[in-house]
Amino acid sequence: MLQSQLFTKTRREAPKDEVAKNAQLLIRGGYLHKEMAGVYSFLPLGLRVLQKIEGIVREEMDKIGREILMSALSPLEPWKQTGRLNSVDVLMRTLGANELSLAKNDSSYILNYSNEELITPIAQQFNQSYKDLPVAYYQIQTKFRNEVRAKSGLLRGREFRMKDLYSFHRDEEDLKRYYEKVKDSYQTIFDRLEIGTDTFITLASGGDFTLDFSHEFQTLCDAGEDIIYLDRTHKIAYNKEIISEENSKKLNVDFAALEQVHACEVGNIFPLNIKFSKAFNYTYTDEEGKQQLVYMGCYGLGPSRVMGVIVEKLSDEKGIVWPRSVAPFDVHMIELQGSNEEVKAEAKELYRELIQEGVEVLWDDRDARAGEKFADSDLIGIPLRVVVSEKTLSAGKFECVERKTGKTALVSISELIGLLRHV
Ligand code: ATP
Ligand code: MG
Repeated sequence: MLQSQLFTKTRREAPKDEVAKNAQLLIRGGYLHKEMAGVYSFLPLGLRVLQKIEGIVREEMDKIGREILMSALSPLEPWKQTGRLNSVDVLMRTLGANELSLAKNDSSYILNYSNEELITPIAQQFNQSYKDLPVAYYQIQTKFRNEVRAKSGLLRGREFRMKDLYSFHRDEEDLKRYYEKVKDSYQTIFDRLEIGTDTFITLASGGDFTLDFSHEFQTLCDAGEDIIYLDRTHKIAYNKEIISEENSKKLNVDFAALEQVHACEVGNIFPLNIKFSKAFNYTYTDEEGKQQLVYMGCYGLGPSRVMGVIVEKLSDEKGIVWPRSVAPFDVHMIELQGSNEEVKAEAKELYRELIQEGVEVLWDDRDARAGEKFADSDLIGIPLRVVVSEKTLSAGKFECVERKTGKTALVSISELIGLLRHV
């Protein structure tokens, strides 16, 4: 893509009221536009990153579930039925905005914050026999929550992206088996997102669904709002919220001996057991023709929050540093001295060859000073920068700079393509 065709620009300053590092950098880099606290629009670069993250999540989820897309609005009734209409402290509700609108329809709707109230009746409609189970549905969707503090940029949105997976089983054993499968799937996802080594399965409260613990995936991050007690040797952590003498005995862990660190919850998986099947009277017919309650699990993961976490963790004083797997482009091609026809032609040729090889290239074709182009390139954070300039052209070479390390090399087109294939 031509940078002149992005239709956005980098900014020297983030909005005054933006205090989160991730949002400051993403706004300055032209990835996001801030609408209000906790609400952002995704611009071309930002959308590409979000779609890469969601693409990885989707690829892994397709191995263990079926993708659907549920509505973002829902009626009040199912929320009354589960009792959550009055118990969820972040639940949002809509209403016509003015007299004219209200005169036509004065109904009020829920803006879904999670989708158990929708998915349970869907699963119930299609899976009523033991032969139909287990099943698992997932979606990647925008969620709404009335968060009090929305000062952490993408880490805590009032509107944000969530992948939510729901599974339905004949009994607790089958749920447990699947639950372990999801743990592995999540670990693969975080590895592919290149935050795997810093992400730890963390025991957390099971909420009111279960006496068991739930499992969070917590990524070490200074800006994270959670404190976890980390046991690096066993690659496991405990959320501060479950630290108690009782749990120390139950788990046989000396919490005081563990390292306390800030972390951000990027995923959370819950054994729901029969909480929702009971509320909707969702039973299936077993082999003996008897009705049994269905066992459920739910599994959340936040793609937009992950995007914020990556920026928080990997940026440096010059700007963002994307891992290759989620970078908006593989290569940032910088053409210097745009007036020089030879440089222009060479840039065009390099661009053509890279595209042909399936490399994603952002071509800075703007008529701007070298210093400005380099500073923007550092801020935007594409993993590899390739400079086309008069200086190296006579040797048929391009200057290649790795964003993360600053490592520089002079390479030919074929060397560059070889390099990109190997990463
Ligand atoms: P937190 O404790 O951080 O508020 P939660 O436990 O309420 O999160 P879940 O209901 O478990 O969140 O949601 C599933 C996933 O959705 C989370 O693991 C997180 O990745 C993401 N998520 C939840 N709330 C937000 C939010 N306000 N902004 C961005 N992502 C979110
Ligand atoms: Mg959670």
